[in-house]
Amino acid sequence: MKGAHHALCGAAAWVAVASTAPWTLGWYPTSPLGVLTGALVCAGAALAPDADHHDATVANSLRPVSQWVCDVVGKVSGGHRNGTHSLLGIAALTGVAWAAGQVTVATEALGDLAVGAGLMSVLLVAFAAQALRLTRRRRDSWPLALALAAFITVAAPTEWDWLPVAVGLGAAVHVAGDMLTDAGVPLLWPWEPRPPRWWRRTPVLDEVWSRGGHFAVPVLGTTGSWRERALVAPLTAYAAYGTGVAVVVGGLTALGYDAGAVVDRWWDAAEELVGGATAVGAVALQVVAPG
Ligand SMILES: [Zn+2]
Repeated sequence: MKGAHHALCGAAAWVAVASTAPWTLGWYPTSPLGVLTGALVCAGAALAPDADHHDATVANSLRPVSQWVCDVVGKVSGGHRNGTHSLLGIAALTGVAWAAGQVTVATEALGDLAVGAGLMSVLLVAFAAQALRLTRRRRDSWPLALALAAFITVAAPTEWDWLPVAVGLGAAVHVAGDMLTDAGVPLLWPWEPRPPRWWRRTPVLDEVWSRGGHFAVPVLGTTGSWRERALVAPLTAYAAYGTGVAVVVGGLTALGYDAGAVVDRWWDAAEELVGGATAVGAVALQVVAPG
């Protein structure tokens, strides 16, 4: 799967899990700020498994730091599409995020600052910004990522509680996305079981568990295929919807309104509008094509 597509899937997944707006799962509800920043962090985490080779988009996102990180990750995980594309890789990345969250610095003026979580998100937000082209030039990634991380670290330190959840979810979304393409992933790395000969000779089966020990459900075909784009388009709209609702709710709350009540009222009005339009459409059909 392409980098930008991974990022968009990550943002959509976070909206589904963290938002409580209609059409979301709300399994891990966060504040509107958590939905917004989490979407960026999760989008970045959905790119992180590709930090295992040094010329990926992510390696160029926050140079030179991103390049150092990619070199180290590539060495530890055994090269591209190896360790980081496995269940162990997802667990390791989640563990790193959890550990980063434990690094705090006590200050007199601002209390405990979540410096570790802030630094990790600088990198992840820069990954997302680069892949989604939120920043035009490479060096613009630095100010965007630093400003966002610093803002949350100072303004809402408890917000970072969700960091390991967003990182784990993003990494899992990446591995699932690559699993839908032909190449598949070494899900059980470092154990890479090879299928028996009869399995390799059977059509379909040899694609699900390949001779290289990779697993796949290759419904999307090759990376960047039209099927991949067809899957990502509605997910992009969904991510935009969820983050849009978070901006509106966050804005209303900041202005002193009961955001939940306002959104409910809008929602009822929208439903009535859709109901009305459906009735008008049905009547129109009857007139145009009676019987
Ligand atoms: Zn990948």
